[in-house]
Amino acid sequence: MSKNNKDSNPAKNPRRDFLKTLGLAIGAAGTITTVGASQALGGTNSEIEEKVKLLTQDGQLVEVNKSNLSLANEVIANEEELSELQRRGRLGLPGKKWVMVIDLAKCQNARKCMEACQGAHELRPEQHHINVLRMQDNADSAPYYMPKPCFHCDNPPCTKVCPVDATFKREDGIVLIDNERCIGCRFCVAACPYSARVFNWFEPEMTEEERLRTYDVELNVPQKKGTISKCLFSADRLRQGKLPYCVSACPNGVYYFGDKNEDAVTNGTSGETVRFSELIRDNAGYTMHEEFGTKPQVFYLPAKDRRVPFDEAEKMTN
Ligand code: SF4
Repeated sequence: MSKNNKDSNPAKNPRRDFLKTLGLAIGAAGTITTVGASQALGGTNSEIEEKVKLLTQDGQLVEVNKSNLSLANEVIANEEELSELQRRGRLGLPGKKWVMVIDLAKCQNARKCMEACQGAHELRPEQHHINVLRMQDNADSAPYYMPKPCFHCDNPPCTKVCPVDATFKREDGIVLIDNERCIGCRFCVAACPYSARVFNWFEPEMTEEERLRTYDVELNVPQKKGTISKCLFSADRLRQGKLPYCVSACPNGVYYFGDKNEDAVTNGTSGETVRFSELIRDNAGYTMHEEFGTKPQVFYLPAKDRRVPFDEAEKMTN
């Protein structure tokens, strides 16, 4: 990611600001009518700026430089793309019910899942959508590593407290955030009992070109200061028929991902597809804090019969 333009504010989009200044209705290209053109007289060619008149939706006639007209068209195209991304982002993939299984016996703290996720979502080094934690259940048991994403709960307390409907649960089970709506109140951060959400305290570092990309709610990029970010189950990758970034990046076969409706999950490393119900039943799969009633859709297999003992995994990663 580029490191320049630290002072840019992605919340402010100069192209959109231009349209707002004009009072044009964004997304309504058909209502903009070119009614004529005039040229300034008496100047050199380089000083002549062709003007066009536009009829705004509220009936006002405004005159703008012709060079700005292409900018206006670009803004409208951008806004149309944005609203389409938001529309399909809210719907999700019909007929699907996404589920993840994390095999704790296989995790060796390689942290490739974290790297892939941070890269795809342009996160700062200290920000995580998925974090690999060092766990120890009690003084007598052996420590182990536990990757922790958002659990995409079926009864998510986070979405219920949002005052502007910025965060929502889709039909396919994925919990997303629309940062074009998010006001940064952080009620959802407080409501999540699993600390799965992060707040963007700082301006993301990106080029002007990167900043002007159309916001994709399924990728949550470009990131925006003052809004919330979290694991998206790689909704953009699922739309392409691919496994999530973290699942594909793991070298140790920790992750299974798939469709609960089809009772099938695929291992991201081996490519093996197995029955979800059998994997959970035969390996004593569980979800985090079932007693909360949140109904997480990320399941864990216990850190039993580990492929690599914890001490060796520590040595490999330190
Ligand atoms: Fe919401 Fe937290 Fe559940 Fe994710 S883990 S769906 S952020 S309550």
